[in-house]
Amino acid sequence: MAILPLVIAPDPRLKTKSAPIEKIDDGIKKLAADMLDTMYRERGIGLAAVQVGQLKRLLVADVTWREEEGPGEQYVLVNPEIVEGSKEERVYKEGCLSFPDQFAEVMRPDTVRVRYLDLDGKPQEKTFEGLLATCIQHEIDHLNGIVFVDHISLVKRDMILRKLTKLKKAGAFEPDHVHGPHCNHSHDDHVL
Ligand SMILES: [Zn+2]
Repeated sequence: MAILPLVIAPDPRLKTKSAPIEKIDDGIKKLAADMLDTMYRERGIGLAAVQVGQLKRLLVADVTWREEEGPGEQYVLVNPEIVEGSKEERVYKEGCLSFPDQFAEVMRPDTVRVRYLDLDGKPQEKTFEGLLATCIQHEIDHLNGIVFVDHISLVKRDMILRKLTKLKKAGAFEPDHVHGPHCNHSHDDHVL
């Protein structure tokens, strides 16, 4: 078990497209396990590999875990691809472990059908709904170098990025400050 350091915006890696995983070896399995540990520790419900500095098409999600009860239904998706999205859309207030304490409402398809490999390398296809659908779309965006603030107005995006740039310069996200701005959110804030 290892907690990995998070990549915090602004950072060029968050704008970079991640590469497909050619072989699911022990390194990938360990990365997935460490990403889940990191996600729970930082109280997120989803995490993409790029957020821990690995430009690989891998994401983890668990929107049902609770502080008191521990892990819920875990998902690990390798090389995920959206096959189809519903016309019907839904708005959630989203946050992101790479954007500490920043939130914005984002509209996305309510249901998505996703094709991916599981950790055994088996092809899977599954329909995700509601918060889980939003989470998976937010993480797949990460794999394509897109972040949630790319879905909101330029004015609001600039405001958030300016704030984070300032905090970053002040060292607010350095490891010894990890219990500062990072952990103020509650589980219900949908941090992905
Ligand atoms: Zn995110």
